Amino acid sequence: MQHELPIYLDNNATTRCDDAVVQAMLPYFTQYFGNAASTSHAYGWSAAEAVKIAREQIAALVGAEPQEIVFTSGATEGINLALKGVFETYASKGNHIITVATEHKAVLDTCAHIERLGGQVTYLAVDVQGLIDLSQLEQAITDKTILIAVMYGNNETGVIQPIKEISEIAHQHNVLFFCDATQAVGKIPVDVMTNDIDIMSFSAHKIYGPKGVGALYVRRKNPRVRLAAQIDGGGHERGFRSGTLNVPGIVGFGKACAICSERLPQEADRLRTMRDKLEQELLRLPGVSLNGHPQQRLPNVTNLSFEGMEGNMLIGALNKEIALSSGSACTSASMEPSHVLQAMGVSDELAHNSLRFSVGRYNTNEQIDYTISTVAKAVRYLRDGQKPEIALKETKQ
Ligand SMILES: *Cc1c(COP(=O)(O)O)cnc(C)c1O
Repeated sequence: MQHELPIYLDNNATTRCDDAVVQAMLPYFTQYFGNAASTSHAYGWSAAEAVKIAREQIAALVGAEPQEIVFTSGATEGINLALKGVFETYASKGNHIITVATEHKAVLDTCAHIERLGGQVTYLAVDVQGLIDLSQLEQAITDKTILIAVMYGNNETGVIQPIKEISEIAHQHNVLFFCDATQAVGKIPVDVMTNDIDIMSFSAHKIYGPKGVGALYVRRKNPRVRLAAQIDGGGHERGFRSGTLNVPGIVGFGKACAICSERLPQEADRLRTMRDKLEQELLRLPGVSLNGHPQQRLPNVTNLSFEGMEGNMLIGALNKEIALSSGSACTSASMEPSHVLQAMGVSDELAHNSLRFSVGRYNTNEQIDYTISTVAKAVRYLRDGQKPEIALKETKQ
């Protein structure tokens, strides 16, 4: 069996750049190195033209107008701009934000910052499958509410919130709706118009583009969303975000979006087939259970708990062969169990025993088969109280 080890099954953490993305970027480091804000010469013009095309490709993937795309350094920055920008701009209307306990740390930590600045934040609970309750959302709205921030698809479980219903509730109450769609964009159809989203963040490196570039969609009409800039300077990006544009990164992001637009339905089917096979086979092992909604979720991820087995120990047994994250993915340095699983009512123990498998464009059926047998062997050896090293030796083929 020929494949590079470890097999990469951590595509929700980041993805390999598509070769076509790298090729598209290369000329913008050397031949066309101009500053897109230089209006007096051809170097600037070619950079600006490339940014214009990328903006169109990115807008097209999410159903936005090109002028509604604000370039950032990634989703984290976009989230900061959205939440802090709304808090500052709409201060005269109110100071209350509603979000969810299972949001990404970029949202939760920004909300904590806003609380320190005098903001009020409500953290909605989720049910055992990871979904919010829409009537609880509606009840949480007060006359001081300025923003509802709910993610599209969860990075740990893939659970997809009822986005259209949430935006309807928000708008009935004259509240803005921000959506962190970093995991959903490129994997499922995401459309800011049909879902009536006011502000939305996403990122290139989760969709086979480069790291360090992202976008914030900011609605231009009905209503026109205003945001206080969080980075001041030359007034780039219509004043929303100053700083010389990362032209090669933006070109790569545009190309990555164009590829997703082209391949989305087929690619989603292929990933779902691999994910389902992996999940079904692993669920046959004793003591393995699924975390998250079995249907309403992204096609590429499964989050499983392995009873009686510390996730990090299982990862330790597997990580020479399979690269994946434990349930505490984004803060894997800490031993805190995943806040997402905790919010879903998963016990601390089962949260500690969880693994996230996220498949992507570069995975093959062969890798999935190899993963199934490797995990099965590691589980068996760990259950029998033997050392992980033995499991690894045995699984080498
Ligand atoms: C990865 C991720 C982010 C952060 O994106 P960066 O571009 O790495 O800053 C935010 N939200 C979700 C849901 C993510 O998966």
